[in-house]
Amino acid sequence: MEALISRIKHDGTVLGDDILKVDSFLTHQVDPKLMRQIGQAFAQKFSDSGITKVVTIEASGNVPAAYVAEELNIPMIFAKKAKNVTMNDELLTAEVYSFTKKITSTVQISRKFLSENDKVLIIDDFLANGQAALGLITILKEAGAQIAGVGIVIEKSFQTGRTLVEETGIPVVSLARIAGFEQGQVVFAEADL
Ligand code: 5GP
Repeated sequence: MEALISRIKHDGTVLGDDILKVDSFLTHQVDPKLMRQIGQAFAQKFSDSGITKVVTIEASGNVPAAYVAEELNIPMIFAKKAKNVTMNDELLTAEVYSFTKKITSTVQISRKFLSENDKVLIIDDFLANGQAALGLITILKEAGAQIAGVGIVIEKSFQTGRTLVEETGIPVVSLARIAGFEQGQVVFAEADL
């Protein structure tokens, strides 16, 4: 997706060997116009797939996921990382290791929001080693839901996530694909959309 790639070139910062900071438009401050384009790109791709729900993990998946759900005119569910007193329904859970926080947390979705009649599109901001996506796949399988695909805003193709997700038989669609970082610059691979 050209608009996203040029934004990454312009505003992204490479941190160390394997982290891209995009906090001025995606993960902290948000550019709604770009988010709408992201929502439209995924919605167009999956418009004929019979998707009933968009699912992500809080926090930074929430923004792109909500824009995709709005375009598809369906609900968005975000897996929660901390249980609170209002979560008194049956929960579906998975353990997820966070690439950026370096901790494992139990993520959860209330069972009442998912059923075997659902066909789900998973959306996340980044794909690194695939742990967030695989955790969501575990929860969705437990619910008996079908999974149409995993939609990623920025995939770091030099990490293991895409291969691990594709090994489950679920297609990955990424708007920007990063082949690697060279001298603090982003080297892009061909994107899926
Ligand atoms: P994974 O579970 O695929 O290893 O990592 C994906 C999650 O880690 C994403 O939901 C995202 O929040 C975070 N993440 C992974 N890599 C990056 C990165 O390079 N930059 C930022 N800002 N977040 C990342």
